[in-house]
Amino acid sequence: MSAPFTIKTETFFTIEMPFRERMETRRTVFTGGDGPRVAVVAGIHGDELEGLYCCHRLAALLEELQRTSPNALLGSVELYPAVNTLGLDTLTRGLPVFDVDLNRSFPGSATGPLPNRLADALMAALSGAALVVDIHASNIYLREIPQVRINQDFDDLLVPIARRMNLDLIWLHGAATVLETTVAHSLNSTDTPCLVVEMGVGMRITPEYCDQLVAGLLTVWKDLGVLAPDVPVPDITHTPFIADDSNVHFLNAQTSGMFIPAAAHWTGVRRGDVLGTIVSPFHGDTLSEVRSPVDGILFTLREYPLVYEGSLMARVMARKGGRA
Ligand SMILES: [Zn+2]
Repeated sequence: MSAPFTIKTETFFTIEMPFRERMETRRTVFTGGDGPRVAVVAGIHGDELEGLYCCHRLAALLEELQRTSPNALLGSVELYPAVNTLGLDTLTRGLPVFDVDLNRSFPGSATGPLPNRLADALMAALSGAALVVDIHASNIYLREIPQVRINQDFDDLLVPIARRMNLDLIWLHGAATVLETTVAHSLNSTDTPCLVVEMGVGMRITPEYCDQLVAGLLTVWKDLGVLAPDVPVPDITHTPFIADDSNVHFLNAQTSGMFIPAAAHWTGVRRGDVLGTIVSPFHGDTLSEVRSPVDGILFTLREYPLVYEGSLMARVMARKGGRA
């Protein structure tokens, strides 16, 4: 007789607010058997919503599984859709009042200001999971293809998992460029594997990207034995390219102004191609052009039109290694 499939929403962090209300940060826990435990984290940045929609889709699928095949969940799944609740409620990227980027507050501490305590509570909740996926949605300025970013210190363990995630790109970062105060670095440093997914754009939802990632998550959960082998999951249709600091080119604005894109996101470009122009709302001439420095693939593209000289406009991955 297998264990019952339960679903419960519970509070993993709470603190009293100035007017004696309580802030409560919640997760939903789906428990089937005593197999591996996995988690999805979203909303660490309050202006990023793609991960919230992924959690909704995963919750819908797991609720359906509970109704139709309650023995299919062999382990447990935890969804943390809204870690920075104050930021999400007020459309603020950081943690309001404290004006802190929550993803620069890890591993946190049990005492001290709210960001440290929230980080500490999240670390305690996630520690020991077989896999944590932390979903980010760029920011309001740049659109990203579905990708995973991995610190090269942990690539032996994480790249094989990332290859199964149905994403378009695995971007390996050199140790020197890694921020050690993120939840992912804090978890990976303490033997809880964590993958960082970046996709879409801030303040928006891109349902096709979310569906793509959900198919990858279900596949990986099946690989890990969280889901039974006979659970039907959508096919993996995307094979990732591998990028690292040697073949990613950053394109910055040569002038301030208003950016008008001329190339479609996630397409092949040739060296010298105009990816967009920067114009003035006062005059009819073009102030500057954004051109690709290499033959490659346009995987980051400016979304928010107003730019300052030096603003990041695009990233192009030079073709070298091919797909993973
Ligand atoms: Zn983020």
